[in-house]
Amino acid sequence: MIKTEEFKKRRQQLMKRVGEDAVIILKSRDDMLRNGDAQYRYRQDSDFYYLTGFNEPDALLVLLTGDKSHSEILFCREKDPDKMIWDGPMVGTEDAMSAFGFDQAFDVKEADQRIPLLMQDRERLVFKLGEHEQFDHKISGWVRNIEQRKGQKSRAPEEFVSINPMLHDMRVYKSPAEIQCLKKSVDIAVKAHERMMRFCQPGLCEYDLQAEYMHELTRQQSEPSYLPIIGGGANACILHYINNNQQLKDGDLVLIDAGAEYDYYASDITRTFPVNGRFSARQRDLYEVVLQAQKDAIATVKPGNPWNQPHEAAVKTLSQGLLDLGILRGTLQQVLEEKLYRQYYMHMTGHWLGLDVHDCGDYQVDDLWIELEKDMVLTIEPALYIGPDSDAPEVWRGMGIRIEDDILVTAKGHQVLSSGIVKEIDDIEHIMRPLH
Ligand code: CA
Repeated sequence: MIKTEEFKKRRQQLMKRVGEDAVIILKSRDDMLRNGDAQYRYRQDSDFYYLTGFNEPDALLVLLTGDKSHSEILFCREKDPDKMIWDGPMVGTEDAMSAFGFDQAFDVKEADQRIPLLMQDRERLVFKLGEHEQFDHKISGWVRNIEQRKGQKSRAPEEFVSINPMLHDMRVYKSPAEIQCLKKSVDIAVKAHERMMRFCQPGLCEYDLQAEYMHELTRQQSEPSYLPIIGGGANACILHYINNNQQLKDGDLVLIDAGAEYDYYASDITRTFPVNGRFSARQRDLYEVVLQAQKDAIATVKPGNPWNQPHEAAVKTLSQGLLDLGILRGTLQQVLEEKLYRQYYMHMTGHWLGLDVHDCGDYQVDDLWIELEKDMVLTIEPALYIGPDSDAPEVWRGMGIRIEDDILVTAKGHQVLSSGIVKEIDDIEHIMRPLH
């Protein structure tokens, strides 16, 4: 759990970065209808949550920067006894101050009246520029409201600044409490993967494995951090396969990309294993290439190395493997220079991980790759997809293999957070071996 003090510390850090004489305004995510009267389960906007820890819709965060006028204000729904009969407890303005550490809290119904007064005479307005059309209109309305109050000598902010670069740069570095949350969400996904691996056998359907995964997540008060991919056979070559409705066949591999969200933090793990628990010779050969590529990529994760170094390492090993197995022809130099591997490996080797599965944060600044630093968290996920219609020799077609782990950058190197779920061939076969 992230403590109230940490959320407060983040607000203060952001205000310091923004500088004097600014007003920062951020809105919560709206409640969403799925269909008819049925709601989607509410999930707060990651940026809003990062700064507040507040998990209700219809809320606004207003921060006034400057040593003298410093103030942290939350607008939220006032407690409504009728609504609480249906939906359960609400925080309300009083508890917003005591439990969430705000200096002031107001009923969100008073926002139109109060926010122009809070904004006036501030030089800069910092918000999500151009991300929510309706909210942009709202902001313009508040600015106009100030300008229209002639004779009162009030002045509207003249400079509009995007909050994202400052806020997202903060989110890239994980605090000790955030790392604990990430570890918990990784541990849940690890257990879910192991459960699927043990349960798997020919004749089951992809959704049977998904049910095992959901069972593990639900009993640990977690939910999927994204729609799980469970692809048997050639379905593994469809990068965003989410139908998960085909039968798992004897002799095929199954690729499972499935993570957990716990206390707002995401894990993202992929394992590929034989449906019947035994790798065939060809599956073994291709799997060893991807596994070696993943190890070579992970070995380069340490402070000071550029973001793309793990990718370059993975691509080199994958390319050499494709040549050794006769799936590609030519020299390694040719395969790398002409990017011939792309037919079988068309994505990057990882992404940032945090409150969002594809977490915020730059990968490049001014055409230069970001350098890895301590407390960053990323995934490493090399793969090979030999599609059924690819140019590869027929014996290889229809195999897709990806191995993905979640990695924390430490002071001297890295820590593989998801090492709890096996990936060596012998270990997978051992786990899947029937007891009788
Ligand atoms: Ca993934």
